[in-house]
Amino acid sequence: MDRERSEKFRELLHGKLDELLNEAGKTVVDMSGAKEENFPDPTDRASLETDRNFLLRVKDRERKLITKISEALKRIDDGTYGVCELCGEEISEKRLIARPVTTCCIECKKEEEEQEKGRGA
Ligand SMILES: [Zn+2]
Repeated sequence: MDRERSEKFRELLHGKLDELLNEAGKTVVDMSGAKEENFPDPTDRASLETDRNFLLRVKDRERKLITKISEALKRIDDGTYGVCELCGEEISEKRLIARPVTTCCIECKKEEEEQEKGRGA
């Protein structure tokens, strides 16, 4: 991938990262805010627990995505961004725009999904 294109993806990834970090920051504030409130009613407490579990799940998903984005940014630095790590072919730009953190091309992804189906997963 040429420099101009990889810089475009760097910007795209940085934008997504900023967005995620902002969201994650908000989640942390929401959670600490909820902790300080007192819920004597057991029904309210139950719903608060559910909310907290939900937030934790979202946070976990965000954390994984943040890791994927920083790995993608590292690959831009290395000059290996946009290259399929399974077959070594270039990943199409269309796929990268739709899924900038991807590490494999659409053909390898399809193959992987076929294999997963075969295992009954
Ligand atoms: Zn591939």
